[in-house]
Amino acid sequence: MGAEQQDVSQETLDPTNWETTRKLMHQMIDDAIDYTSNLRQRHVWEQMPLEKIKQLETPLPQESTNLEQVYHQFKNTILPFPMGNIHPRFWAWYMGSGTVSGFLGDFWASVMNPNLGGGNHAGHKVEEQVINWIKEMMRFPPSSSGLLVSGGSMANFTALTVARNIKLGYDVRQKGITKETANKFVIYGSSEIHSCNQKALEILGLGAESLHKIPVNADYTINLATLEDQITKDKNKGLVPFAIIGTSGTINTGAIDDLKALSNICKRESLWFHVDGAIGAVAVLSDIAKPQLAGIELADSIALDLHKWLHMPFEAGCVLIKNHEAHKNTFSVIPEYLEKHDRGLGSGSDWFSEYGLQLSRRFNALKIWMSLKEHGAKKFGRMITKNINQAHYLGRLIKDHNQLELLAPIGLDIVCFRYHVNYLSEEKLNAINREIKLQIEEQGLAMIGYTSLQSTYCLRVAIANHRTRYEDFDLLVNAILEIGVRISGSLNS
Ligand SMILES: *Cc1c(COP(=O)(O)O)cnc(C)c1O
Repeated sequence: MGAEQQDVSQETLDPTNWETTRKLMHQMIDDAIDYTSNLRQRHVWEQMPLEKIKQLETPLPQESTNLEQVYHQFKNTILPFPMGNIHPRFWAWYMGSGTVSGFLGDFWASVMNPNLGGGNHAGHKVEEQVINWIKEMMRFPPSSSGLLVSGGSMANFTALTVARNIKLGYDVRQKGITKETANKFVIYGSSEIHSCNQKALEILGLGAESLHKIPVNADYTINLATLEDQITKDKNKGLVPFAIIGTSGTINTGAIDDLKALSNICKRESLWFHVDGAIGAVAVLSDIAKPQLAGIELADSIALDLHKWLHMPFEAGCVLIKNHEAHKNTFSVIPEYLEKHDRGLGSGSDWFSEYGLQLSRRFNALKIWMSLKEHGAKKFGRMITKNINQAHYLGRLIKDHNQLELLAPIGLDIVCFRYHVNYLSEEKLNAINREIKLQIEEQGLAMIGYTSLQSTYCLRVAIANHRTRYEDFDLLVNAILEIGVRISGSLNS
């Protein structure tokens, strides 16, 4: 064996010098702490310059580069241009802002790097424990099942798959959707339902048309009388209603459907009751939000997101299902290479891969376990309460200014409003508000969201942010008024 070959046979992907790596890792931790503790000093967002984008566009690296240099490139090219969602003034779409124990948990999850598909090891126990805590939070019985998933979309998909398999009344896993069942089964949700539910129904073979969207009341909750009418009409047409999806915290306005009433309709009609709680389910931790969520514990299944209002680093979602057996029967397949032993690493009865689509799964439970232990459920509840109070504070600022108009009731922590002057057309107002949003964004001052309600363009502030302070909204409102006056003045002249 030549000297060169000898080297290759000894080669691994580990550092050749652990001491240099240790120093670099210490540096990374220092940088991460500086970065996180100084967020407020940064712009929320900045357009990535072309020159930086070009620096990323390289051919596949064939040779090694030392990690210091790679890290240097990261710090120069990537780190300065974040999405901005951990900044105190990020209120767009609906995202959490991360936690320090969350990112440290993610780090250790990668160091240990277990596969949460199954097996007899501590990681598996940690995920079981985290799911048990979430059951306790949602007042689901200990006998229910659960799974950590990437987020609300996968949680809804997982629950709707179980609902479909149970409610179609035959072996859907074997037979699939047959001629007799196609275009026959219907499911209900409000017109404000999140689009991921439609995607799930498409993938499940039921088709987007199986989702009958029911109009909402003035407060954007599902209209119960119309829902009941629609169920009767559908049954008279020979269709088979099989489930209702209630939303606790709609994406547009944070509205919470009347969950108790939906549960009653489901009981009477023998329908599966699913709650899409991606935004609002965890608000049961807040004293002031909890009463609005009454009835969520009556659901057959809940989809919830921990990377939204519980601030876990992406990705962290969870699905809970009351009928444990139905959940397992929907997903469990055990080929010979996954058969279990009664002792050793390959033992254990309930492997997570039997409860969802994924076989290999990341140790996402660790960051949740660390964060919940560090802060405790009560503190997370206080953060949620603070955001709801901040939403109403912003609501008061809007009421105090003639040029601002609230466009929907404030649901949980979501405020939809616009800059408004009487003499301008709706079309011009839409254009002005879009421009206001973009200028605030390009100044790096704040990141606000947007949506359309009845064709009116809204500025939408969704405050799932534990770093936001009350005075941040004074700053926002002043900026909106200043930009609004400037651009509407130029339109007028
Ligand atoms: C965000 C959201 C989803 C989708 O969740 P992801 O975590 O983005 O997959 C589903 N439903 C509602 C109501 C949401 O707000």
